[in-house]
Amino acid sequence: MSKKPDSPDVTEVMGQPEEENEDIGAQFYREHLRQLERSLGEVEIEDHVQLVLSEPKNEVIVNFPVRLDDGRYELFTGYRIQHNNIMGPYKGGMRYHHDVTLDEVKALAALMTYKCALLEIPYGGAKGGIRINPHEYSHREKEAITRRFTHDLGHNIGPDYDIPGPDMGTNSQTMVWMMDTYMNMQGMNDKNAKRRVVTGKSLASGGSRGREKATGQGVIYCIQEWANENGLRLDGATFMLQGYGNVGSNAAQILTRMGAELVAVQDHTGAIYNPEGIYPRKLAQWVNEQGGVQGYEGAQALEAEEFWAVECDICIPAALELQIDADVAQRLNCQVVVEGANGPTTVEGDAVLQERDIDVVPDIMANAGGVVVSYFEWVQNKRSERWQLQEVDSRLHYKMKMAYHEMRAFAREHAIDNRTAALAVALDRVNQVYVERGIFP
Ligand code: GLU
Repeated sequence: MSKKPDSPDVTEVMGQPEEENEDIGAQFYREHLRQLERSLGEVEIEDHVQLVLSEPKNEVIVNFPVRLDDGRYELFTGYRIQHNNIMGPYKGGMRYHHDVTLDEVKALAALMTYKCALLEIPYGGAKGGIRINPHEYSHREKEAITRRFTHDLGHNIGPDYDIPGPDMGTNSQTMVWMMDTYMNMQGMNDKNAKRRVVTGKSLASGGSRGREKATGQGVIYCIQEWANENGLRLDGATFMLQGYGNVGSNAAQILTRMGAELVAVQDHTGAIYNPEGIYPRKLAQWVNEQGGVQGYEGAQALEAEEFWAVECDICIPAALELQIDADVAQRLNCQVVVEGANGPTTVEGDAVLQERDIDVVPDIMANAGGVVVSYFEWVQNKRSERWQLQEVDSRLHYKMKMAYHEMRAFAREHAIDNRTAALAVALDRVNQVYVERGIFP
């Protein structure tokens, strides 16, 4: 792989000029294109491949009504963006969040293409979601919304075509509703063969052991590799977390068991701090009952501005995109940022981190554990098998380690940062397949 002398400007190809007052989704998509552009400068990618990757293959938008508990009808907008499937079926999560937009889902879908390619799992990339605040709806309403959404997506999803998984605001229950709805749209004979149309299901309904904690576990495998490389002892190390959902709380529990201390956490309700260490399990219980970290008795409250400046070894953003901008990057007081979230750092944020010698393990590497174990779940369903947790974990460990060192080798060889390297490795793999297969007709 050699450096391409004058790769075209992706933002130009894609016609996405910077706009004032753009929403967070549009900003995120633009940031993604800027990052992509940097990686395209490091690896030889055919122009036609760049063109293909510049937009998603399919953008499915469905508007559907659901009757709420009080008898009113509400119209919901659901998205499924299929970015690319040259490497295998489309794969990616379904997000339920009040900020979901088409552009946000487009950026997230593209990241899935590169994540799957980097981890060498035989999938393309997709993402979907509904623009709702799931906390505002009852259990029954969420079920009705999910089932009607799945129904209206119809054959835009399928076990060998596009396989949704969980993301922010969705969980194993959401996935089981999707699976059941899809199965009921099939003929009697092969209903059960369709179980793998979604992953991240509960164990009882065909999920995999280890899927629930997989993203958090993958974050920790990356931290272990980084710590080995950089001589950080995890026993006694300190870390901070933004977001205390599935990824954050699992990562905290695993890292604490290794002897590290959780010193600060921030979520949508506030920020908390305890230099003596916060108990991750107790905090998870609190968040479950109270809906957020605010008010947790085992720590003191912290102002939002103070949060990012907390001194620690490892910072794990595990919430939304675009959190670490230049200003936050300037305030961080850690050795490494390990991205449990997708797209948490802006291009300017990255530049400041580099300047300040703060390392980054980027999203498509650090949070890939979820989709890797989703793939294991899909394979188990296909083979009618159920693997032991130990087997899932050791296979995940191997995959994360391999990808991590491929990213690092590329970064060293080209003297570039990990994010640019991770994307370049993924782009190179996708490019190779396009070059071999060509474009139809
Ligand atoms: N939402 C997760 C991600 O961003 C997992 C997706 C999946 O399991 O399909 O990687």
